[in-house]
Amino acid sequence: MPDTVRVRYAPSPTGNPHIGNIRTAMFNWLFARRHGGQFVVRVEDTDQGRITEGAVDHILDGLEWLGIDWDEGPRVGGPYGPYFQSERLERYNAAADKLLASGNAYRCYCSPERVAELRKEQARNKQRQGYDSHCRHLSGEEREANETAGLPSVVRFAMPQSGVTSVEDEIRGHVEWQNELTDDFVLVKTDGFPTYHMAVVVDDHAMAISHVLRAEEWLPSTPRHVQLYRALELPMPQFGHLPMILGSDRAKLSKRHGATSLMEYRDDGFLPEALINFMVLLGWSLDGETEVMSVDTIRDHFTLERVGKPAAIFDLDKLQWMNGVYIRLADTDDLADRVLPFLERAYPDHLLPINQDYLLRIMPLVQQRLKTLADAPDMLSYFFEDTLQYEPEGVVQRGMNVPGTLAALQRAEADLSRVAEDDFHHEDLESLLRATGQELELSGRQFFGALRTAITGRTATPPLFEMMEVMGRDRVVQRLAAAVAKLSAL
Ligand code: GLU
Ligand code: ZN
Repeated sequence: MPDTVRVRYAPSPTGNPHIGNIRTAMFNWLFARRHGGQFVVRVEDTDQGRITEGAVDHILDGLEWLGIDWDEGPRVGGPYGPYFQSERLERYNAAADKLLASGNAYRCYCSPERVAELRKEQARNKQRQGYDSHCRHLSGEEREANETAGLPSVVRFAMPQSGVTSVEDEIRGHVEWQNELTDDFVLVKTDGFPTYHMAVVVDDHAMAISHVLRAEEWLPSTPRHVQLYRALELPMPQFGHLPMILGSDRAKLSKRHGATSLMEYRDDGFLPEALINFMVLLGWSLDGETEVMSVDTIRDHFTLERVGKPAAIFDLDKLQWMNGVYIRLADTDDLADRVLPFLERAYPDHLLPINQDYLLRIMPLVQQRLKTLADAPDMLSYFFEDTLQYEPEGVVQRGMNVPGTLAALQRAEADLSRVAEDDFHHEDLESLLRATGQELELSGRQFFGALRTAITGRTATPPLFEMMEVMGRDRVVQRLAAAVAKLSAL
């Protein structure tokens, strides 16, 4: 391990960050934290045409939401700034000049039409696609003529045309490429902006990055970067390419697999700690079996040795399961705090403001069954809504009729009205109503089923008596009265 671990997350602000992208950020962050190093965020915004408004904020807000903090970068600054590539153009130009001067790069005057025509022809002849190095062989006079004519040009790297380029990848081991398979790629575009390859090498060096940990899709770019480091006579960082993430059908991960942008997970009611735990398992394992781990445990044990080569499979069911686990593990008060904004967003005005004390008492009843925070508004609505919508027939249980049900509800209403508000405890309510049920010669399923539907409008709810206690006497009695009215109208 180098003395100082410095890693970076280098997003291109071209849209909302998706899960694979954030996984890369997280692995870098974990690696930095594990080794007491620095985690840098650098915005790769040199492809001006693809930048989308607000994307940088989305990315940074997402990291903050997950609790992934960065030591240098936008919002925090740092000694290696600026951290936006669009503000670092002179560095790339200087590197390009150096490469031009040493003969490792050359100006290419080929028109976009020529390059397109070349590709078409290569496709027709079933040849490898790529630039044919035409301008690499221009004579001094030809170059001068092109310059005098004011032809626009790009700067291309003069890639070695034989031999191999190899790296010892921290995750994939020894990887090598035939140089002849890599064409003379562009370093600086006609608009004067660098390409990704140019900027990434210049900046990873300038920012003293020790390890480049990025998605496997960048592995094919690595021989270019290695050759650039050599030509610029710069020391090379370590490379580690994180395994791909595929859908359960082994196709490239997409929306179809339920994988969405990070902020959608937040809005869908996933907990950041569940997402962190879920995402770390997309390529890393503690011991091959442990699934649920706190972020502290993950951070204390994170090593690249335990990052796998095979593609990781994104399984939305597992994320949902994991979220349920974290909801059940959560401190109930904390969970109430997190549920509150979901209720406030979903509920109509007449249910607001939410009585937080009441919500705190409801929470333990539903915590075991909640899968996402976004389930809460519907799951809890009958605790808050005064006028319940349900079919009165649904109150009538199997083996009972309408008059019998009415009588049972009226009796329960009368019994419960006599209990003092302060004595509305679930054990007492249970013994009271059990006795009544026996007196009425109703089974528990019948009597309590009728009460449950009358009080909640639903058939599946938390335990009846505990729920009654939380709702309080007046609310329960009012609901029984409403059910009686509904049934009487049948
Ligand atoms: N800007 C690239 C991306 O959006 C970064 C690739 C790298 O980490 O080298 O993924
Ligand atoms: Zn050319």
